[in-house]
Amino acid sequence: MCGIFGIYRHPEAAKLAVYGLYALQHRGQESAGVASSDGDVLHLAKGMGLVSEVFGGRDLDDLPGDCSIGHVRYSTSGSSYLANAGPILAATQHGEVALGHNGNLVNCCDLREELEGGGAIFSTTTDSEVILHLFARSTQADPVDALVESLKRLQGAFSLVVLLRDALVGVRDPWGFRPLVLGDLEGSPVLASETCALDLLNARYIREIAPGEVIIMDREGIRSLFPFPKVQPVPCIFEYVYFARPDSDLFGRVVFPIRQAMGRILAKEHPVEADMVVPVPDSGLPAAMGYSEQSGIPLVWGLIRNHYVGRTFIAPRQSMRDVSVRLKLNAVPALLKGKRVVLVDDSLVRGTTSRKIVRLVRDAGAAEVHLRLSSPPIVNSCVYGIDTPERSELLAANMDLEAITAFVEADSVGYLSVEGMHAAAETDLGRACHACFGGPYPVQYTQLRERQRHLFEKDHR
Ligand code: AMP
Repeated sequence: MCGIFGIYRHPEAAKLAVYGLYALQHRGQESAGVASSDGDVLHLAKGMGLVSEVFGGRDLDDLPGDCSIGHVRYSTSGSSYLANAGPILAATQHGEVALGHNGNLVNCCDLREELEGGGAIFSTTTDSEVILHLFARSTQADPVDALVESLKRLQGAFSLVVLLRDALVGVRDPWGFRPLVLGDLEGSPVLASETCALDLLNARYIREIAPGEVIIMDREGIRSLFPFPKVQPVPCIFEYVYFARPDSDLFGRVVFPIRQAMGRILAKEHPVEADMVVPVPDSGLPAAMGYSEQSGIPLVWGLIRNHYVGRTFIAPRQSMRDVSVRLKLNAVPALLKGKRVVLVDDSLVRGTTSRKIVRLVRDAGAAEVHLRLSSPPIVNSCVYGIDTPERSELLAANMDLEAITAFVEADSVGYLSVEGMHAAAETDLGRACHACFGGPYPVQYTQLRERQRHLFEKDHR
């Protein structure tokens, strides 16, 4: 879970990278960083916290040059501390390189063991750093060739922005798990995780970076390579369900109407007699609109969100998460009292937030609370870059519907079906990754989480 950004040949490159990161803040809130190249030397500024906390009020004089990359991070691999914040920078025999990575490499443990066995000294506990070590060791003469050689060793999810002294490279893994788009700002090419970052800059959206594409921007212009063996692309459907911003055009389709369609199908699959549809803001809103349209039950803003606190999940410790639910949402008794409520959210993960929200609505006087989720039960952990807890913590992996309903203290619970989700997203089962919803894992991995924790989660603070 990260957001990445890159811009080539713009006089205000670092400033625009910071702006781009503001638009991608939803993809990661633990740290923010920007690297720039002045054509000779690479510069780096990063810190823990939100983009505004790291860069707000800063003049960016320490980030000169007309090429820049940016990164916002929410850790799926490696702990949350400054050395692990992106971009990560290294000096190598091919020159300096800075890397921003979104995704999770499933063979990072094998690669790290191999590299450490050969004497490599790692300075972070991220999976991304293996890419820099592979690059540093490549015997290819040309830096771009060295990068491409390294990329061929990677398995799993990697959308990348790579800054070299005089080039910017964008990469999307052959499965296309995570998004990456190309835009143009007055002749300067822009790379971003999502189109909402292009919109903010008033940059023109050109196209998605294709799965398996390596796009190189240098003095010779823009060119693309396709160095990986061809596989069936399987973009992550959870991006459509929850992760991406609803105003983004993702994998060729705008997210908001897909979420609305999920809500419409949910209403058909799990109708209920009720007085109002209440969205869990913000993530449940588009689906709640769809549910309301389909069912004819009015949409009522019965929960109010405080926008000045981050996403609930972002606080990594359970005790902190509990507090942040109350910080984030309040119910409106004047609207809810005596009413039969359909509460619509996008997903149920551990169930802890949802249980509190159901209680909030009930405490505000609702007569009935029917929870509707615009995605299927999450039964598996993601190993491709979305932070989902271990299976043992996933509610739907351990309980049947009746037990889930009792746990969240709702009158009923209804999940969108896997088929309904794909129908809304206009994807089909084999053409999108839905491993978290019980689908196959498109890239094999062996005990990744256990090994990854062992290798990468040593505390270096
Ligand atoms: P819970 O009550 O613990 O099941 O949390 C469900 C809430 O978490 C839903 O409102 C989702 O919008 C949100 N959510 C789902 N997946 C994630 C994720 N990977 N990271 C952060 N929040 C998430």
